Amino acid sequence: MSSYFKKIALFIFLSLLILSSCKETKSKVNTNVPEPKITSVDIAIINGTVLDGTGKKAYEANVYINNDTITYIGNLTNPDLKIGNTIDAEGKFVSPGFIDLHAHGNPLKTPDFENFLAMGVTTIVLGQDGSSTGVKDLKAYLEEVDKQNLGVNIVEFVGHGTLRNLIGIGTKNDITLAELESLKNLLQEQLKYTFGLSTGLEYTPGVYAEESELIALAKVVGEADKMIMSHMRNEDDEALIKSIKELSAQGKYARVHIAHLKSVYGKGKQRANQILDTIKQIRNSGVQLTADLYPYMASYTGISIVFPDWSKTPKQFAIAKRDRRTELENYIRTKVNLRNGPEATLLGSAPYTGKTLAEAAKDKNKPFEQFLIEDLGPQGSSGAYFVMDKELQESLLKDDIIGVCSDGSKTGHHPRGHGTFAKIIETYVVQDSLLTLEGAVKKMTSHAAEILHLKDRGLLKKSYKADIIIFDPENVKAPADYVNPHQLSKGFDKVLVNGKVVRDDENLTTKLSGKVLLPMQFLK
Ligand SMILES: [Zn+2]
Repeated sequence: MSSYFKKIALFIFLSLLILSSCKETKSKVNTNVPEPKITSVDIAIINGTVLDGTGKKAYEANVYINNDTITYIGNLTNPDLKIGNTIDAEGKFVSPGFIDLHAHGNPLKTPDFENFLAMGVTTIVLGQDGSSTGVKDLKAYLEEVDKQNLGVNIVEFVGHGTLRNLIGIGTKNDITLAELESLKNLLQEQLKYTFGLSTGLEYTPGVYAEESELIALAKVVGEADKMIMSHMRNEDDEALIKSIKELSAQGKYARVHIAHLKSVYGKGKQRANQILDTIKQIRNSGVQLTADLYPYMASYTGISIVFPDWSKTPKQFAIAKRDRRTELENYIRTKVNLRNGPEATLLGSAPYTGKTLAEAAKDKNKPFEQFLIEDLGPQGSSGAYFVMDKELQESLLKDDIIGVCSDGSKTGHHPRGHGTFAKIIETYVVQDSLLTLEGAVKKMTSHAAEILHLKDRGLLKKSYKADIIIFDPENVKAPADYVNPHQLSKGFDKVLVNGKVVRDDENLTTKLSGKVLLPMQFLK
């Protein structure tokens, strides 16, 4: 061999050595596991930093996908590997899609749910606050939903209020044993297709349920190994602990979960710690109690929240107006003032959208309680209510037990429906460092999947479903606010649902790939 060729050979040898040592240093995972013999993948997400959802430190690795499933995480070195689509995630994090523990919306009306995809959410939980779809044949309904061009996966709960309406007991409060039996039977049937029961005890008709009814239903839920998610009886600060205890009594029989944990007009870190201590004591007693919250200081719901229990339905309201007018006015005035006054209520329904209760009442030249009774009524509007304390809610959020929900929808007039999960990253990870990136991602992925008993989502792991988001936290923004709540979040460059890219550089693809998720028992 001539010296020229010797030099070339040496050069090639050295280059290969350097290349292979580069691969050595880059391959930081699975170094002890022999590389599987994979010859082709549909998608390879390369050069990214993996946040696997467990909370452990992010690491560099490629993610390989076949069909809807993660095939391998690491670096496949087979030179003959056939790759359908390569996504370069250089400088970006690759994480499981977020799971929204408590959301709203009608999948038959707004199936793309782009508001959720844009904030990195790939699975939402519907049927909340005691209210699910009002059909007896839930199986047929879910099959219909599954046929839609769904943007996100849907987990469905059965609403307790809806069950009451379906069997014809509506707002009755002393129900007969026969009625309770019907309620239990319908619940048992609908639980087959769903992940649990939701209650909305601050709403009609949930407010009429006595503890004995809730306990009886909890036993049915527990026997099916499902859970209860509850919008509790009363979220006002002085009633909160009592409400948590009411729920935890049901927790003797089934897993229980506090929806959108908040203290209405409670304040401070110390109060947050008392609430967390209560939850931890209950958990230590063996009850599987969890909770979620949304990162905004205003709640959003129907204006009936400020009306007394005896005036919430149209019939009750007519009687209350006629027979108990002064009492009604006093109740509403006191309640609104306790909730930080009429300036702290932002109306969300036409023709008053965007006006505070104080402004709308002033326009009509009447005190706000008169306006509420004469112009709105309990069913007359939705509103955002600035009733929460930043320090208290942030102290709750920081705790590992607490998950994240939007409690939002594509159409609701509150920024949480378009901003929640982006806001967690933008405000609480990047800006305020209240949460680590790994910790925040865990909260919004595997923690939520564990709460739901969702077995194959919430982690980036071999054999898990490929619900994946790719993002740079510095670019994540939640521009939605109370004036313009329908602005999509930014910064999630790619969103994959069931192994398909459904949102690419903030553009929705036409063929979406969300599915109705069914519980394991049903799938077997
Ligand atoms: Zn609720």
